[in-house]
Amino acid sequence: MKTKFIFITGGVLSSLGKGLAAASIGALLKARGMTATIQKLDPYINVDPGTMNPFQHGEVYVTDDGAETDLDLGHYERYLDVPLSQKNNMTSGRVYHNVITKERRGDYLGGTVQVIPHITDEIKNAVKSMPNGEDVALIEIGGTVGDIEGLPFLEAIRQLRSELGSENVLYIHLTLVPYLAAAGEVKTKPTQHSVKELRGIGIHPDIILCRSEVDLDEDIKRKIALFCDVDRDAVFTAVDVKSIYQLPLSFYNEGLDQKIAIMLKLPAKNCNLDSWRQLNHTLENPKGETTIGIIGKYVDLKEAYKSLHEALIHGGVANEVKVNLRYVNSEEITSGNVKEKLAGLDGVLVPGGFGNRGVEGKITAIQYARENKVPFFGICLGMQCAVIEYARNVMGLKGANSEEFAPEGDDNVIYLMKEWYDYRTKKTENRCEESDKGGTMRLGAYPCKVVEGTKAMAAYGETEIQERHRHRYEFNKEKFADQLVEAGLVLSGLSPDEALVEIVEVADHPWFLGCQFHPEFKSNPMHAHPLFRDFIKAARDNK
Ligand code: GLN
Repeated sequence: MKTKFIFITGGVLSSLGKGLAAASIGALLKARGMTATIQKLDPYINVDPGTMNPFQHGEVYVTDDGAETDLDLGHYERYLDVPLSQKNNMTSGRVYHNVITKERRGDYLGGTVQVIPHITDEIKNAVKSMPNGEDVALIEIGGTVGDIEGLPFLEAIRQLRSELGSENVLYIHLTLVPYLAAAGEVKTKPTQHSVKELRGIGIHPDIILCRSEVDLDEDIKRKIALFCDVDRDAVFTAVDVKSIYQLPLSFYNEGLDQKIAIMLKLPAKNCNLDSWRQLNHTLENPKGETTIGIIGKYVDLKEAYKSLHEALIHGGVANEVKVNLRYVNSEEITSGNVKEKLAGLDGVLVPGGFGNRGVEGKITAIQYARENKVPFFGICLGMQCAVIEYARNVMGLKGANSEEFAPEGDDNVIYLMKEWYDYRTKKTENRCEESDKGGTMRLGAYPCKVVEGTKAMAAYGETEIQERHRHRYEFNKEKFADQLVEAGLVLSGLSPDEALVEIVEVADHPWFLGCQFHPEFKSNPMHAHPLFRDFIKAARDNK
């Protein structure tokens, strides 16, 4: 069977949950025995989201191959349970970069390079070359219909209908149907306008998915079908759900997957949603609860910690407990108030981050967790802070720091490795302070050897693992490992050549672990990441 393409556009306003809708449709098709892959086309001009501020854009998600992608790829991997890569995320910036590189190389043989056909061709190629024999490819177009930046993408997917064959293409449009409390009714006008705009571009949606606070009744659906010229049974409600993991079940109850299967003539089997039902059952019937404090700087924008948030929920599912998350602004933590600030927390987590804002507050929180035996999990910068804290307060190296925050310091237990052998690229890499911010990080999946008899080993249960990285600085093993180990720090994960320290622990503690990688990127609702599972277990038992 040829791969069928489902294009998902959004209208009216952003943040309607297009990514989750796409991921849920993928999950449903998988539950019907189909293979599926997924791609996000992002209209912004950044080549990748790697340099974008998480305050504005949310988390940067990292794939195994080291691509820095939109956070929707995280939803995709969690819902579809398939590893994705660079080709699953394409931005306008990357499209233009490719086209301009070709132009400079003379590939266009002196022709005038234009949006149509050159930019649109580049987009079409990115879409067509993405699937690898899967039954269905879902393509989500970022932004909202009507955005200037989105036009080349919409034009490209319009052209693809005739190119791929109309029987192989389906357009789904997600819109908002607002409920006006004062009038006591829902309004379809924004949807009508949005579909009109889409049709003006030449795309006639096959299915309309209406985000709404309330279930839409038959009359409203009929009205939308009539005005937007789609089948009556091609209008679906995407009603607000309590947990994002209810979405596949909610779509299934609406019959969305059935309609897609019919329209695309997919040889779909009966839907097996047992694991999704089980997941929701556990989420709705927890046997207890535990409260985790996330000590960070982006506390005002939860999107900045999307995968982390989900991974903690997964850890809760694995232990059948509800996980309450409390975000604590590290800039407000001092040694005088740390006890108060962390009061009531069963576990403390310091996530990844860049820059020195709030770092001292994080270190103070870590010291408190270590000394008071509160389960602690440090991720990337969180692990680096844990090493600094241990060096300062246990080993007695008062000036211990990271080169990121003290470039001239002598006691940088975390430093920039000027030269290191990259297992992934199989090249010796050189880094310095002046290197390009976008290109010098250790990115993507790297192997790690887990040391026997440690908490890491108890969690993973295997000696060789692969985890995803996104950082510039490393544990200064050569200069400080011996002294830190002497002082009691356990090095429980190392690179295969033992040059890099990937996991550290404190032994005499219920659960104190820091990892240089980002385990949250590999957690899944059906099988929680082992480190999150064990961290939540320790927090649950901390009563
Ligand atoms: N800023 C630190 C580094 O570059 C940690 C990065 C992170 O936490 N992702 O090494």
